[in-house]
Amino acid sequence: MTTARNPRVGILGAGQLALMLAEAAPIVGADILCAGRPGDCAERVAPVLPVDLNNPHAVAEFSKSVDLLTIESENIDAHVLHGLPLYPNARAIGTAQDRLLEKHFFVDCGLEVAPFAPVNDLVSLHAAIREVGLPAILKTRRLGYDGKGQVRLTHPDQAADARAAVGEVPCILEGMVAFDTEVSLIAARNRSGQLAFYPLTENFHRDGILRISRAPSHPELQSLAEQHLAHLLERLEYIGVLAVEFFVRGTHLLANEMAPRVHNSGHWTIEGSDTSQFENHLRAILGLPLGSTDSRPTLMFNCIGSMPPPEATAAFPSIARHDYGKSPRPGRKVGHLTVPAADTAAVAFLESLLGPPRL
Ligand code: AMP
Repeated sequence: MTTARNPRVGILGAGQLALMLAEAAPIVGADILCAGRPGDCAERVAPVLPVDLNNPHAVAEFSKSVDLLTIESENIDAHVLHGLPLYPNARAIGTAQDRLLEKHFFVDCGLEVAPFAPVNDLVSLHAAIREVGLPAILKTRRLGYDGKGQVRLTHPDQAADARAAVGEVPCILEGMVAFDTEVSLIAARNRSGQLAFYPLTENFHRDGILRISRAPSHPELQSLAEQHLAHLLERLEYIGVLAVEFFVRGTHLLANEMAPRVHNSGHWTIEGSDTSQFENHLRAILGLPLGSTDSRPTLMFNCIGSMPPPEATAAFPSIARHDYGKSPRPGRKVGHLTVPAADTAAVAFLESLLGPPRL
């Protein structure tokens, strides 16, 4: 009798998303190999090969040691991704890594978005200000995350400084949305086209960085959000987990951005759902049936800069601690804590420690 070996999944990147994918891999019988740098945090649970992710030859070589590839960051150049056995596909990643392409794609799919206009120089910035109005946010088309590469404008006189602040690169100008709150929907689509959706998650940011996620939220908007994601997933022939962030304004959902990967606002699914986003991503790309997304009310608190001391959180047994093993640094996501919403004492403790949900 021959024993089949486990499928080998290569992850481009070896940060905390790769770490949590690797933690889910034994559940579906997959082996993980990451392409990253020595010392990356996924090293604790999976082998990490040193690979320059900007070098197409190095990435193509890495792909020969695995059966299929996925990503943990959308910021890998399209020319590196070309021709690889990659899930999600390079077109989906390319659309998500450019805010202008992404906005046009949302509009093509019938989603509402904030008013926006392309900006390539100071002249087009002034034209965009006239078109979009103020206040507005100038965002770099590429490589922006956690509020980086963004400058707010309230007066046309700030245009030149704003251009200089984002580095004179191609941008979009986006009108400020007076939103009620922010939510995200995480969905999975597998190789047979099966879809699964998690409950809408409400997200609270400070300084452009996600601090707290709470699910479920806004059940009255769930089916609208699911229709939107089903449409996006099918148009992109997408395989894997996709996250879309929305602004909520009344009964409207305005698409802000999408992430072609597992997402920070879905970390709560590890404890809060029957199947985590990480397991469902692996199921989707391996061609397995998707797992149940039945969920329990849960909150997730990001630990930014440093982890709270273990003895503080250990006093509350319902708190699940995820320490990514990164060295502390201001503004760095070093871990997260998950807590069932029903444990109100533990929730109140985390709110006092890491900030209340209304930020
Ligand atoms: P982003 O990187 O586009 O997700 O922006 C980070 C955060 O900045 C968002 O989660 C919002 O809190 C805020 N933000 C971004 N764009 C807008 C907008 N057009 N109107 C209001 N707030 C925004």
